[in-house]
Amino acid sequence: MSNRDTAGRRILMLGGTSEARALAGTLTDAGYGLITSLAGRTAAPRSLPGNVRIGGFGGSTGLADYLRANAIDLLVDATHPFAAQISANAVEAAREAGIPLLRLERPAWDRPSGANWVETGCIEDAADALPKGALALLTVGRQELAPFAARTDCRFVARMIDVPDRLPDDWVAIAARGPFTLEGELRLLTDYQITHLVTKNSGGAQVGAKLDAAAKLSIPMIVVARPHLPAAETLASVDDAYQAIIRVFRTD
Ligand code: NAP
Repeated sequence: MSNRDTAGRRILMLGGTSEARALAGTLTDAGYGLITSLAGRTAAPRSLPGNVRIGGFGGSTGLADYLRANAIDLLVDATHPFAAQISANAVEAAREAGIPLLRLERPAWDRPSGANWVETGCIEDAADALPKGALALLTVGRQELAPFAARTDCRFVARMIDVPDRLPDDWVAIAARGPFTLEGELRLLTDYQITHLVTKNSGGAQVGAKLDAAAKLSIPMIVVARPHLPAAETLASVDDAYQAIIRVFRTD
């Protein structure tokens, strides 16, 4: 690709995922003018190649205003598959601003063979699905803990990137960020004598070892299905997203 195709091309990427970080490296190396946007939820986000802005835009209208004010040529939604609001806003804002939108979304996990896998439509149903007396490993993120705190008949080991200041006294909190290995996940499930795994179907290899570990130990898993997102051209890998971006800007 010639510099003519990348120079002066301005891309806003909605980030917050490892895929967004990887794509940011590829795009800045290729010479695109990249701004990655983060919601600001993580206390100490990892550094990112290119420019970074932090905080909400003020809905789809605010995002559309930002796209126009910053002369953005392409919007890339590389947010987490469960970040449904910002993905809906991206579709609306790109339409309003009259620019193309690409979505980078890692494929969902499939049930490991032989796994005891119960799928639920929302986080509240996942909390309801736990039997009384369960000792569950929770990997749903710190914003989704409330329905589990209401299950005072169960105990929890909650793993997340940032541990909130307040958690029920009998919970074990583990602050950790992937990637996680199969060996490490087997050790965690065994050491804490976990009876159930609760997770969102985030997908991706970096945090997927827990499913294989739970299947190996015959631990039932309760998996929250992904939210429905409005249609957009969607790429499943960083490489595919990069190729699609090249096609958007191809001038010859
Ligand atoms: P959400 O519910 O879809 O979005 C709520 C609001 O947060 C949006 O309306 C927007 O505010 C703001 N926002 C979200 N992502 C943003 C971004 N990348 N840049 C600027 N503003 C953003 O999102 P969420 O589920 O809270 O996720 C927030 C961030 O954490 C996302 O970047 C996502 O990739 C990351 N993340 C989420 C999860 C998860 O399980 N949900 C897991 C890992 C990482 P305005 O309307 O004011 O613009």
